[in-house]
Amino acid sequence: MSTGKINVQTENIFPIIKKFLYSDHEIFLRELVSNAVDASQKLRTLASANEFKGETGELEVTVTINKEAKTLTISDRGVGMTAEEIDRYINQIAFSGAEEFVTKYKDKMDSGAIIGHFGLGFYSAFMVAAKVEIVTRSFREEGEKAVRWECDGSPEFTLSETTRADRGTDIILHINEESEEFLETARIENLLQKYCKFLPVSIKFEDKIINNTRPAWTKKPAELTEDDYNAFYKELYPFSENPLFHIHLNVDYPFSLTGILYFPKLKKNIEVQKNKIQLYCNQVFVTDSVEGIVPDFLTLLHGVIDSPDIPLNVSRSYLQSDTNVKKISSHITKKVADRLEELYKESRTDFESKWDDIGVFIKYGMLSDEKFYDRGQKFCLLKNIDGQYFNLEEYRNKVQPLQTDKNNKLVYLYTSNPEDQHGFVTAAKNKGYDVLIMEGPLDAHFLNALESKLENTSFVRVDADTVDKLILKEENTTSVLTDEEVENLKSFAQLNVPKEQYTVVLENLSPDDAPVTITRPEFMRRMKEMSSVGGGYDFMGGMSEQFNVVVNTNHPLMSKILNETDEQIKTFKMKQAIDLARLSQNLLKGEELTQFIQKAVSTL
Ligand code: ADP
Ligand code: MG
Repeated sequence: MSTGKINVQTENIFPIIKKFLYSDHEIFLRELVSNAVDASQKLRTLASANEFKGETGELEVTVTINKEAKTLTISDRGVGMTAEEIDRYINQIAFSGAEEFVTKYKDKMDSGAIIGHFGLGFYSAFMVAAKVEIVTRSFREEGEKAVRWECDGSPEFTLSETTRADRGTDIILHINEESEEFLETARIENLLQKYCKFLPVSIKFEDKIINNTRPAWTKKPAELTEDDYNAFYKELYPFSENPLFHIHLNVDYPFSLTGILYFPKLKKNIEVQKNKIQLYCNQVFVTDSVEGIVPDFLTLLHGVIDSPDIPLNVSRSYLQSDTNVKKISSHITKKVADRLEELYKESRTDFESKWDDIGVFIKYGMLSDEKFYDRGQKFCLLKNIDGQYFNLEEYRNKVQPLQTDKNNKLVYLYTSNPEDQHGFVTAAKNKGYDVLIMEGPLDAHFLNALESKLENTSFVRVDADTVDKLILKEENTTSVLTDEEVENLKSFAQLNVPKEQYTVVLENLSPDDAPVTITRPEFMRRMKEMSSVGGGYDFMGGMSEQFNVVVNTNHPLMSKILNETDEQIKTFKMKQAIDLARLSQNLLKGEELTQFIQKAVSTL
């Protein structure tokens, strides 16, 4: 047996790094500015460890375009490099000086102070440059001795002595032909705004500082007022309305993560508000697509997450299985639930006033995440038609005595559209029942979920059947009509409705109830609704909707109809009564509607 070392040939690996390491060419700027920031931060660390005794002065990083020379230069006044260090950190690909530095000084600095650690960032310069020059002078060098390193993207480089007035580094990119966009002021300004807006060292471009070196999430909550949080929100999303509330995240074990999440005012169109969380790594912008890092329902939140523990140069599918990412994701879920519970306990009134905005989010979370469901059931609210709010337990107690059906099941009445179902809502309220409003985009799913979780409870839409039938334990009152009359009435009513869609049902309701009502069987309706959003009920899709025509045998009109001897008037009365019920449900259309109106006018 023999062992050996795999030998990587630079000739082979160079083109791979250049082409495939980063799919987006523009990130070279992020990498080079980050290196310049790292070099400046290292000098700060060394100064505070007393290993650097000179003046640190202003540690700005400057980005300069020279259109004639076709160069883009990134300059810093950080630690610089000696010839030996260039050999070590630059000539050896994937040897990270950042990593080495952090290991050496880990007791003397914040773990997050240095950005680099893969040792590959520098080479991203070759994605846009035909030639790269480094002119650098280490803080260790006496006099003006500096070094110049040059490489045209082949594995050969040259290293020579030169002079430089001050310590620090210039990275000079000779932009290649395909990448001339990076010589445009506007393009570079945009990129700096995107990636470098919150870097911890000032970045100067065109004589302007473009960044905020101490963004809110890096401060302690005690240092910040509500106005500061709102101001930072506007910094992230100019021109938006103030958010509802925020959550300041700060974890250092078992992973390190900081950030501020905001709860936005939700608009009707949820989709456009999704995916606005920005992900940073030590204050460097990485991406604004956090899919896979936080659960889907949390992508409705806005704000910033900063963590050096999220592996950045890997595919999304890998991310989802990464253990750190999983921990981060469940931590954030927990924090969000904690904050919501806290708000709920702090001020119920305030929580209720925000419910219309946060309700959708909470329901989304409860539907998609078991753990969140468990937390959410403590502060999830139901809103009734009178605008009152109840938590799940309160609501159970409210309807408990009255709203039970024959099988002793609790019946939660709801409306999915208070306008269209106004008649039914009124009928239910007149009987002393409570009606919930379930008109949100997720409510149909949410009530299905609640039904399966809550014990012995069913949700029934107000127009599913006549209220009495839904709720009363005992059979209704008896009919004033004889059995024979009931039969006659039924077959007569049947003649006056379109048969494919309407089934006539006779009920002995109170004389004060409507003579005719149209109801929609709950089960059939839900199946149909679900088939329209997919989910395996597609066989229902082709079916036309089914309705019940409920005829109230105890309404005086029905005796009148039965006793009417003139066949024409008899038919007219029955048909008008049924059509009126259909009209109130918006079910009378086209020719039928025209005929109805003509007939009604003729009786005036
Ligand atoms: P990483 O930043 O992940 O360590 P890079 O490829 O970006 O990897 O950089 C390699 C190393 O080169 C750095 O760790 C650092 O030691 C050195 N270096 C790069 N740019 C500079 C700079 N502007 N000033 C001082 N050292 C630098
Ligand atoms: Mg780097």
